[in-house]
Amino acid sequence: MLPIALGACSVIPDSVAPASERSYRATVERPDYAAARRAMQTPQRQATPRSTQLSTIRGDTCTAHLSQQKVNFTPLPDKYYGAGCATVGSVSVTGLQGDSRSFEISNLGPVACPLAEKLAGWARFGVDRAARKMLGASLVRIETMGSYSCRNVAGSSRRSAHATAEAIDVSAFILSDGRRIVLKEAWDNGSADEREFLRVIHSSACKRFGTVLGPEYNAAHRDHFHLELGGGTYCR
Ligand SMILES: [Zn+2]
Repeated sequence: MLPIALGACSVIPDSVAPASERSYRATVERPDYAAARRAMQTPQRQATPRSTQLSTIRGDTCTAHLSQQKVNFTPLPDKYYGAGCATVGSVSVTGLQGDSRSFEISNLGPVACPLAEKLAGWARFGVDRAARKMLGASLVRIETMGSYSCRNVAGSSRRSAHATAEAIDVSAFILSDGRRIVLKEAWDNGSADEREFLRVIHSSACKRFGTVLGPEYNAAHRDHFHLELGGGTYCR
């Protein structure tokens, strides 16, 4: 079990997120994904047309936000795999939009739409702007270790957020100068600038995602950032 959220992650100001973007985040209506998830976990509701309609309406709101963010995505049909595993209101994301160019994201798989929204904001305002400011090169591609996976939290009997496509594991960043910053190597052994860059984008992720786990959390996360939708502020 994860410890109770401690409200960390306030060390580095989110200077890369402009006022306009902060106000956008503050004012948009958030899809009630938690309710959709509860409906998914209640077997008798799975087949009811009303549940499907609500899911569709919420998905439409979220996908409209993705379109506004110029995310390259495809909505996916809801799928229920049993045993608490499902992809509901999820999308396939292949491209994200920065200030002046788009970037790719690889190996992602289905991702819950509200999580894709947070990813889009983090990639643009957290990662790309930090890369240009700190490393002098823009973001070209984010490499991931996937999103959906029907599994438990390691060492527990609790379903992982990956089991509902509500978590993404990010492993590396490709920059416009050809650099490939791999978390597993660069977190401790990259250049001073690269190590600082990774810590800055880790902190900016903590401002956007409910749970963020990285190399400092445990050995299982030495090679990726676990970015989870959630509702808390757990940052390690
Ligand atoms: Zn993960």
